[in-house]
Amino acid sequence: MIIGGGPGGNTAASYAARHGAEVVMIERDVVGGAAHLWDCIPSKSMIATGGAMSFLARAGGMGLGDVSPRIDVDNLAARLASIEDRIHRSTSSMLENQNVRLIEGTGSLKGPHQVVAETADGLEEIEADVVVLSPGSRPRIPDWAPVDGERILTTRDAYPPAEMPDHLVVVGSGVTGVEFVHMFKSFGCEVTLVVSRQQVLPQKDPEVAAALEADFLRRNVKLFKGARAQSIERDGDRVSVHCDDGRVATGSHVILAVGSIPNSDGLGLDAVGIETVDGYIPIDPYCRTSVPHIYAAGDVSGKLPLSSVAQMQGRKIAEHAMGLTEDRPHRQMDYDKAASAVFTEPEIADVGLAEADAFAEGRKIRVTKVPFMASAKAVINDDPRGFIKIVSDPATGVVLGGSIVGRHAAELIAIVALAVTAGLTVHDIQESLFVHPTLAEALADAAE
Ligand SMILES: Cc1cc2nc3c(=O)[nH]c(=O)nc-3n(C[C@H](O)[C@H](O)[C@H](O)COP(=O)(O)OP(=O)(O)OC[C@H]3O[C@@H](n4cnc5c(N)ncnc54)[C@H](O)[C@@H]3O)c2cc1C
Repeated sequence: MIIGGGPGGNTAASYAARHGAEVVMIERDVVGGAAHLWDCIPSKSMIATGGAMSFLARAGGMGLGDVSPRIDVDNLAARLASIEDRIHRSTSSMLENQNVRLIEGTGSLKGPHQVVAETADGLEEIEADVVVLSPGSRPRIPDWAPVDGERILTTRDAYPPAEMPDHLVVVGSGVTGVEFVHMFKSFGCEVTLVVSRQQVLPQKDPEVAAALEADFLRRNVKLFKGARAQSIERDGDRVSVHCDDGRVATGSHVILAVGSIPNSDGLGLDAVGIETVDGYIPIDPYCRTSVPHIYAAGDVSGKLPLSSVAQMQGRKIAEHAMGLTEDRPHRQMDYDKAASAVFTEPEIADVGLAEADAFAEGRKIRVTKVPFMASAKAVINDDPRGFIKIVSDPATGVVLGGSIVGRHAAELIAIVALAVTAGLTVHDIQESLFVHPTLAEALADAAE
């Protein structure tokens, strides 16, 4: 019995059904979840459109005549709807083919083995051996932010906004915030970013964050560093964000990207004695809650809020619940090996141990780095920005982590992620014969 049909829930459903379980999934909105409707898919679809625009804007460097692309909001909205529809249909039909029963409604726990689905036709009670809670999360709206869905927006109002901003103020400089800065800057909007710390992407390796910051400055993004937003005021078509240091960022629209809160309310956790911490449901490495046959996956588990992590949790829950692999340690979740990316320009991706964290821990590491400037393919692409950095164990050569800044970083990091997960060494990467000319060749150089 699965509550929530996002990446965590639908992956658990699919794997369990594939291994012979009878699966019922309750979803109150859309199968695919927030990930498909508001988060990963629309944001990356908009970024791809922005990427096409900036590529065309650099046409001169590719030997073409001048091209001056402009955004067409109606066309963009139609593109987003079509992508959402295609992905939604393929996920739904996969689950249907696997005989997962989908209930459209809101699910909650009534007892340890009883789930209630509230649907348009009334209540249905279902008995279950195993329950998976994967209700996801929603944007955090601070009490000082009078969101109106028109000019003061959460990320969910932005796909695309009814009117393209002439000047967008983005509050929050984590992954979501900087992706929105990049996206709207590519569309030709003026953008101001309110950064509460001294570094954009405060969780990232400082060298990586500095590369993005340099690019933002080059593209005339205004940075309000060390400024914490305190209130937002709308006056007709203008919106002002007042910061604690007295500065005011004024634009036509504001997007809040200040984190999310888990959808654990209303799940009936009290009925089974599951306690939350700040709204998140604590889980063990097999994603079990404090009630062993009730699992939790995805954002509600308070682990890395990534679709890829939610999917992996869903898969591991299905394997564990069905007793497929309990004795194999790697079947536990290992969040330290999760690759992640920031879909900006240049793209940023990393996995495993970061150089800065290793230094902070006083750990001996070897760091090797090559700039893309040295890559023939990067020059061919007319985009030699960025670098590859590999962190390895100086004694054994085992790859411990890596960061990539540059075009296709999110794809290239897969090789480093594989090395980190499989315990491969820098020599294994060096000995791999990559295609020439490709950006991947720079990985082999970085592993030297
Ligand atoms: C702007 C943005 C961009 C992002 N981009 C990326 C990205 O590029 N890559 C990446 O890996 N991650 C990305 N993320 C994070 C990613 O979207 C989440 O980590 C992921 O959606 C979590 O999956 P989930 O299964 O926990 O929940 P969700 O995707 O939120 O799905 C949960 C589902 O449960 C349903 N639900 C909730 N409560 C109930 C209930 N009681 N009964 C029935 N149904 C219920 C909801 O309707 C929803 O459909 C992004 C996040 C944001 C905000």
